Amino acid sequence: MATQECETFGCVTCWPSDAVRAWDHLTVLQGLEEPVAESHFSVRLRCCRQCGQRFLTVFYETIDWDDGKDPQFWTVLPVTETEAGSLIAAGRHAGFELRALAPQRRSLCHDSPKAGPKRSYWSLGVVPRPHD
Ligand SMILES: [Zn+2]
Repeated sequence: MATQECETFGCVTCWPSDAVRAWDHLTVLQGLEEPVAESHFSVRLRCCRQCGQRFLTVFYETIDWDDGKDPQFWTVLPVTETEAGSLIAAGRHAGFELRALAPQRRSLCHDSPKAGPKRSYWSLGVVPRPHD
């Protein structure tokens, strides 16, 4: 039987079983460091104020030159303190470490396309996306 690694991360507040609630709760997480802070790509670390769980959020945006309503995409992945430390140490190169980071761990995706509804759903690891 496969181990559900996701069970060991976060608390009911920061990492609930429902993806839409999990995305809503992201706003209450405390911002920590932002190793990569480009306007269309960012890697940020946050922390749950209740349980101290560290989260990695990766933001991608593609520029839509037509009307400026740019498609945006986020991946949220709970990380260990060791993983958070290595991302901070990598600084602006942290983006290169994302693909190897816990590819089988449950992550949260939030997709805000140019057209159509916003969606929050579960995925695995950091989902690579193009960005400008
Ligand atoms: Zn928590």
